[in-house]
Amino acid sequence: ASSPTCLSVNNIEVIYDHVILVLKGVSLQVPKGRIVALLGANGAGKSTTMKSISTLLRGERGEVTKGSIEFMGERVDQLTPNELVKRGLSQVMEGRHCFAHLTIEENLLTGAYTRRISRKELNDQLEMVYTYFPRLKQRRGSQAGYTSGGEQQMCAIGRSLMARPSMILLDEPSMGLAPQIVEEIFEIVRDLNGKEGVSFLVAEQNTNVALRYADFGYILENGRVVMEGRAQDLAANEDVKEFYLGVS
Ligand code: ATP
Repeated sequence: ASSPTCLSVNNIEVIYDHVILVLKGVSLQVPKGRIVALLGANGAGKSTTMKSISTLLRGERGEVTKGSIEFMGERVDQLTPNELVKRGLSQVMEGRHCFAHLTIEENLLTGAYTRRISRKELNDQLEMVYTYFPRLKQRRGSQAGYTSGGEQQMCAIGRSLMARPSMILLDEPSMGLAPQIVEEIFEIVRDLNGKEGVSFLVAEQNTNVALRYADFGYILENGRVVMEGRAQDLAANEDVKEFYLGVS
């Protein structure tokens, strides 16, 4: 049986600055408990799609002018980012954005801000994050700005976990990181998905890695979905191989 839909993006159109049409009717689904990859070249519209869901688009003079977005069966396109987080949808935006002057642990604690919880719950949640990210535990007292790019990406994911999300939007986690660290991060994503049941929508330019860890994939070109399917089918597709995996 197929699992219920966690996130559903229905035919959205996005316009920047009132004139620039960037998404031309994008639809995608993330089934509950799955990892879905959103793929495509630089400028294809991945980040715009992610920001449409997380509502961060509004800060960039972008507007969803058509379509709808549903999370757990309810329309969420008019919510604030905080309301989304409270409902269980967290986001880790491109470029990481840890607070450089705070320690790793302080950064993680800021992720719990939308929830009223006891000190005990906070500590339990912190321990849960450290279980998945032992590196962060080692560096808990270090200023984030002085940790490696991989550790900062882990910190950003860890911080989003502090809000106990049922789903995480992860934008370009591999960006600027060495291949080995990228694998390490995707292994943790797979672990969180398998053990905690967190659903993921992962935007990635690194098609190869993303398709190895995802269950399903969507390929965007010029603001449209041009291909979608099971990750293993996409990875075996001749066009995908030629244009996105660099083999033919
Ligand atoms: P990247 O990997 O570079 O993030 P992407 O697939 O995520 O690429 P987007 O960042 O969504 O692509 O950009 C899609 C298109 O929208 C590009 O043509 C880009 O120039 C344009 N665009 C993005 N942000 C804005 C903005 N704030 N105002 C105007 N145009 C924008």
